[in-house]
Amino acid sequence: MNERNNRNEMSIRFDSYSANEGFARVAVAAFLADLDPTLDELADVKTAVSEAVTNSIIHGYENRIGKIYLTCAKEKKQIQIEVVDYGKGIEDVPKAKEPFYTTRPELERSGMGFAFMEAFMDDVEVDSAPGQGTTVRMVKQFGTGA
Ligand code: ATP
Ligand code: MG
Repeated sequence: MNERNNRNEMSIRFDSYSANEGFARVAVAAFLADLDPTLDELADVKTAVSEAVTNSIIHGYENRIGKIYLTCAKEKKQIQIEVVDYGKGIEDVPKAKEPFYTTRPELERSGMGFAFMEAFMDDVEVDSAPGQGTTVRMVKQFGTGA
């Protein structure tokens, strides 16, 4: 049995302090290191994780501290990442995903988080309901040379 071909999953839960965004990004990078990603692939994933986690911190939990659940799985060269919060949720997901759309312009947000996730990952799915929270699922295949 070659265990590198098996699905291998890790999961972490952390408080929505902004300092933990860097921790989440590095934790995912460390977990994926044995797949021998290119620097570009690793940078793409780190940016996508950073955007999703920052959204949970800033928008999901706004002025309070809540739990963020991050799961990362690898299977051969495919990686799957899920970022979950139980914060305020999104009213209109298609609108939220539009480039330059932000509900927090006063925070100098540019509204590009979802656009970056979509640009850097192969697939991005957002599941959200007002008052319930938000789940972002992202998939990327390493080694496609793209
Ligand atoms: P930027 O990411 O460029 O700093 P932004 O966070 O406003 O700006 P996006 O990341 O594209 O832009 O998100 C768009 C909008 O979707 C946000 O302004 C916010 O209203 C909503 N949103 C995104 N993630 C969440 C979340 N986890 N919980 C609640 N609302 C969210
Ligand atoms: Mg954002």
